[in-house]
Amino acid sequence: MLLDMDLGVLLPSLIPSSQSVYVLVFYFVYLAVAGEILPGKVIRGVLLSDGSQLRYRCNGLLALTLLVAILGICAKLGIVSPLVVADRGLELLSATFIFCVLVTLVLYITGRSSSDKSSSLKPHVSGNLVHDWWFGIQLNPQFMSIDLKFFFVRAGMMGWLLINLSILAKSVQDSSLSQSMILYQIFCALYILDYFVHEEYMTSTWDIIAERLGFMLVFGDLLWIPFTFSIQGWWLLHNKVELTVPAIVANCLVFVIGYLVFRGANKQKHIFKKNPKTPIWGKPPVVVGGKLLASGYWGIARHCNYLGDLMLALSFSLPCGISSPVPYFYPTYLLILLIWRERRDEVRCAEKYKEIWAEYLRLVPWRILPYVY
Ligand code: NDP
Repeated sequence: MLLDMDLGVLLPSLIPSSQSVYVLVFYFVYLAVAGEILPGKVIRGVLLSDGSQLRYRCNGLLALTLLVAILGICAKLGIVSPLVVADRGLELLSATFIFCVLVTLVLYITGRSSSDKSSSLKPHVSGNLVHDWWFGIQLNPQFMSIDLKFFFVRAGMMGWLLINLSILAKSVQDSSLSQSMILYQIFCALYILDYFVHEEYMTSTWDIIAERLGFMLVFGDLLWIPFTFSIQGWWLLHNKVELTVPAIVANCLVFVIGYLVFRGANKQKHIFKKNPKTPIWGKPPVVVGGKLLASGYWGIARHCNYLGDLMLALSFSLPCGISSPVPYFYPTYLLILLIWRERRDEVRCAEKYKEIWAEYLRLVPWRILPYVY
């Protein structure tokens, strides 16, 4: 649809109106308040190099449910239009982009002027402005005691669902609701809800433990996740697809198998980190050097969780058929990202675990997809 627009229409719709700024402000304020006051399991983060551990309150599911309920009631009462996001998608995108630039400039300035020595806030300055702004200076910067990294990723994942719901409302209003749209909506909603059910697992992921908070991460969380992961939904608003029953069944299978592999692998690692003696698939785990799990999904490939995630991404695009490459943007991007990330993670693990990692490589030779890669 973006490609069909001429520049004269596209450019004005990119300029944020005051309404789109209000939407963003409301959203961030809600998330900040809800994150602080709603009850939730408090999880300790991984042990940082100075021995400290951050605490994360995992109340995302409650915050999301409450937000959807509030917005639903407001829509019913006519206070908010459920189409506000679908109608103002481009404006919201540019408002979010401007926010990302501003907030990361502030992070750059405060990071550079920090003299904190803790692992979370110690400044890592290369001296190259673009590099430091892009990759960030501090590991876990905070604002009013809110952990910004955890906050932004939560905002991005919830934003994706809110965009999808608005697209759904638009397709109902246009009378264009299709089987494809229903499949896409169900798969994404299940994936996002599952993310928040298991929000505590997020606290040990690469982004949280290894990446500093710079433009790359803030942009990735706030803009990339919600606006590009929903491309299939936007596309389905403007394109009709006829799905056969076997195609629907195959699509559901890709989703279910992808989910089992993705969630199963992440769960096995999480449980293993908590208690390395917990049985994996009913048997005592195979452990390398007392630290690395080499059975279950982690004995099939060194990043089976990425394989599951890639299958899920594919399942979100298959409802769009194969007439256009546009809806396949997300799985294509994820394939590139996860291959790159897997390489970086291997380097990190090789440095951290040394000969234990070499032994693990001997036991589990496949990176993501057994017998292929
Ligand atoms: P992982 O959850 O795979 O974490 C990698 C870390 O796990 C390693 O650095 C190491 O950390 C530990 N580890 C690796 N192998 C083993 C092993 N055999 N036994 C025990 N510990 C091990 O990576 P990510 O954080 O990148 O990804 C988490 C999830 O998020 C994945 O499912 C991924 O698909 C998803 N994701 C989704 C994205 C999206 O855009 N949809 C983007 C990025 C990720 P340690 O030092 O703690 O041992």
